[in-house]
Amino acid sequence: MTTPIPNIPLRLAGRPTLGGLVVPWTTGRTPDGRYRFGAVDLDRHNQAMTDRLCQTCGTPLEDRIVFALRDSDLRALTSHEPGMHPVCSAYAATACPMIAGRMQHYRAASLAGQLADLGIAFQGDPTGARAGATAEAWQLVWVSGYHLYTHPHTKMLAAMLLPEQILRVRPVGTTGAGAEGGKP
Ligand SMILES: [Zn+2]
Repeated sequence: MTTPIPNIPLRLAGRPTLGGLVVPWTTGRTPDGRYRFGAVDLDRHNQAMTDRLCQTCGTPLEDRIVFALRDSDLRALTSHEPGMHPVCSAYAATACPMIAGRMQHYRAASLAGQLADLGIAFQGDPTGARAGATAEAWQLVWVSGYHLYTHPHTKMLAAMLLPEQILRVRPVGTTGAGAEGGKP
């Protein structure tokens, strides 16, 4: 399974690349120093969480922060991953093998209803017609801020997103190129 190599936005132009894909700032390395997608540099991960840095480019976040969340994380209003700049998140949604690889899946039907209960606008398809797949979908969640805390179960730093901080939620696959979902 191959994903087309997306264009690299200007903000990420200085980052190292692997196979044409930008290596996120929090990506870990093998003992011999090579980057490895999917591995996490825990020091940088925690620094990004604490200092509100973008996990992709490593520079300070601004007044619009985007988290890529699995449905289960969104239900818990918690992210175990640092936030991103909007432009960096748009890139990650098409380039990150983990996130982009889930594009064929869609949220479970009840998510839109749950978000509506919280007063959060959901920009996915309201009919639930795509809700067949129950596998975990990814959402890009725009927020105005977050609360850092230590998750009681994982003991990891996590970002708590309060409902009033959530600006919008959009399923991965409906942003950027292929705005209508990509698949013919
Ligand atoms: Zn960034």
